Parts: sequence; C-alpha cells; structure tokens
Amino acid sequence: MLNKLKILKEIKKHKAKKIFLQIPEGLKTKALDLVGFLEKNGLTVYLSAETCYGACDLRNREAEVLGCDLILHLGHSDMGIKTNIPVVYYEVRINYNPVPVLKKYTDLLKPYEKISLLTTVQFLSALEKAKEFLEKQGKTILMKKPNKAKYPGQVLGCDYSAAVEKADCFLFIGSGEFHPLGLAERTEKPVFFLDVEKGVIKRMENRLYRIKFAGIEKCKEMKRFGILVSVKPGQFNPNLAERIKKALESKGKRAWVLVFDEITPEKIMGLGLECLVNCACPRITEDVGLFKKPVLGPEDVKKL
Ligand code: SF4
Repeated sequence: MLNKLKILKEIKKHKAKKIFLQIPEGLKTKALDLVGFLEKNGLTVYLSAETCYGACDLRNREAEVLGCDLILHLGHSDMGIKTNIPVVYYEVRINYNPVPVLKKYTDLLKPYEKISLLTTVQFLSALEKAKEFLEKQGKTILMKKPNKAKYPGQVLGCDYSAAVEKADCFLFIGSGEFHPLGLAERTEKPVFFLDVEKGVIKRMENRLYRIKFAGIEKCKEMKRFGILVSVKPGQFNPNLAERIKKALESKGKRAWVLVFDEITPEKIMGLGLECLVNCACPRITEDVGLFKKPVLGPEDVKKL
C-alpha cells in the first residue's frame, strides 16, 4: 500500500533533509516502519501524533517550529492549501474492480440514462472501470472537476461539487456511508452507493433531513449559541463565524465564537451553551449525537 521507494524519490526531488510526517489513522500501523526506512536513508523524521482526517489538516505551523524543510502528507490529495514549506502528498490508491457488482445490479440502474460517477481518492481507478462498463451499456457518464478536491469525480465531506446536477442519478463507489449520505442530503435525485466492502449497491435516503429539521425547530427557542471554528488551515473561516455571530445577534440570540484545533465535546462542557453552529468540517454537523445538543450548519441560521 505504501511504496517506500516512491515516497523517498518524491522527497529527494525537493532535496529535503528534515521531514514532518502526517499519516491518517488507517495507516498509522505502518508509520514507524516508514520512519525507520527514511531514517536509514539519511533523513530526520518527526512523526505527527495528531489525528489527521484530511488534507485540510496540514500541520505547517508545527513543521515550521521544528525547522522541517518538507511535509510528507500521506493518504489525502492536495486541496490547494498554500504553505511556506513544500508538501508532498502521497495518495493511497486501492485497486478495485466494480464491474462484477455493476453487472449484478444492471436492473437497478436501468431507468437512468445520465449517471454522475463519484468516489474518494482511494477508489479513483474504480471510476474509470465503471465508466467504461456503463458506457458500453449505453449510459452517458458525467464527471467533473471539483472545487477543492483534485480529480474529476472526487468528493470530500466538504466538497460535493464533482456531482453533476444534470445527471439522472448519482453513483458513489467507495467504502462507508458518510459520503453517499452527505450527497443524498444535498440533492433531490437518486443517490446509489456501491459498497466495495459488501459488494452491493443500495439507494441512499436523506436520513439526516428529519434530524436537522428537528434541530432547527429546537434552536428557534434557544438563546445561547456557540460558533465552532477550527484553526486547521483548510477549515479556518473566521469571517464566516463573524457573519453567523451577527446574524444570530440580529435574531436576539447570544453567540460566542469558539476556536479549536480539533473540535470535541468535552472542550466546551460547562459553558452552558444550548446550540452550536459549525463553521468547520461538515463531519461535525453530520456526527449526530456527538455534542448532545443541536449542531446546525451555517446555512441553517437563516431558518431560525
Ligand atoms: S474539512 Fe472535513 S471533509 Fe473536508 S477535507 Fe477536512 S476532514 Fe475532510
């Protein structure tokens, strides 16, 4: 999964000597082996022990403090964050063939002529195989370059702009329901999820709609709002937080901007807040029940 020689070659292109290594949780078991390999090749390596959920979470400040000359960021694709130190993004790809599953579910997709194909960075090669197969079945496959993510058809939890609206339906290929659910929340059209782990395709419902609606209704009566801001470079949006604060105050609410690195519920225990508005990673809004109080997205504030 990790091609150490390829990683070393990328580092050498930058003539770097001191590396700041970021590795997502799913690959952490391979971290020390990689550090050992890089050290044997004459490099100094600092391994970030912080969790890393996306390329939004570039640890450029720590890397600068440590005097590193390169950040090696594993598992995610570049989302265009500007840094003083060069960054090598090493994407991890999984070779998966979706065709046998697509063959099994031909009838399910029969009514749809134009299909917008989507995935995460790991399964990009599966999109190509799916496209080829579906085109042979007479479908028109739509894929477009997203705003923050890097590749046509690639989605992030904070960027579904690769979804082509004029499609008759969306087909997401990947693992885990987080992204196809997020997609179902943003469109009226059918969203299908080809689950690479279970080898099935199922239609996703917008399960969050009722929970979100109930949260907004509750917040109408409430007075004390916390506005969540993260300093992670790809999530940092203080201007949005300021606008939300003003909007809440104009509706007679009290609102405080709360600044975090990683946003977790225990950090705000004891503040007596009744509701939260999330201006950071959308995963926080969609992780229902985590904060034991309603968490709204910025777009919900106008509905209060
Ligand atoms: S903000 Fe959230 S969804 Fe977007 S890249 Fe970061 S972790 Fe992923």
